[in-house]
Amino acid sequence: MNTTPTRALVISAHPDDMEFGAAGTLAKWTDKGIEVTLCIATDGSTGTQDRSLMGAGLAALRADEASDAAAILGFKEIVWLGHRDGYVEYSLDLRRDIARVFRRGRPHRFMVMDPAPTVEDRFVNHPDHRAVGQASLDTVLTAGTTPGHFPELLLDEGLEPWRGMRELWIMGPGFKPVVSDISSTIERKIQALLCHASQLGDESAREQVDGWLRELAGAQGAKAGFSYGESFQIITQGPGFHDDEPPADDYLDLARTPADPLA
Ligand SMILES: [Zn+2]
Repeated sequence: MNTTPTRALVISAHPDDMEFGAAGTLAKWTDKGIEVTLCIATDGSTGTQDRSLMGAGLAALRADEASDAAAILGFKEIVWLGHRDGYVEYSLDLRRDIARVFRRGRPHRFMVMDPAPTVEDRFVNHPDHRAVGQASLDTVLTAGTTPGHFPELLLDEGLEPWRGMRELWIMGPGFKPVVSDISSTIERKIQALLCHASQLGDESAREQVDGWLRELAGAQGAKAGFSYGESFQIITQGPGFHDDEPPADDYLDLARTPADPLA
């Protein structure tokens, strides 16, 4: 039985979320031949303080930026859900949209945003992140995996429920218990993030982001003895949820941190 994951699906709210939280890990996956699809829920149309730029023009610019980043990371494709940036609400429509992408993509690994309202004692999590994160989690139970939920997906669109997901990865921004070693892909992570020029400002701001990202990835990696890391919560659904055993070959570069985060 082949237990090596071959497909991964990542759901983000905005065009640059994945780069902050998971690009180093995803670059490693594509290097290993895993097919990665990125689904971005919003159009990114309000992410600016520049009044002359906001709206459809910004959305088009950010779509190009996201494509450039996806090319650096070796993704198969980007799927856009087209929700309005900043206005995402948790709704059954959102859950159905994500379930549709989940059933089409049939991912072995499903990576989602953290729906927590606050991030440690540092900041409030963006409302779009919370809504998209929660709807993504809820896709795993019922919407993506059970024929009677959104039966129109099956009956009208021919999308079978998918029960082959083996791992659910919840990405940052806060520190999570499992650290992925991204020492070999930190440069690509930074290059991918720097593709989002509309979000970064001038050259000195770009240098600041570069430095800040190295510092953050260094701190996350240090918790597990890696030069650079990204951290995740990884949930493996219990027996009966999928047919295959979880893969073992891919975990040499993952480390769990001590139970006490201050230790
Ligand atoms: Zn975001």
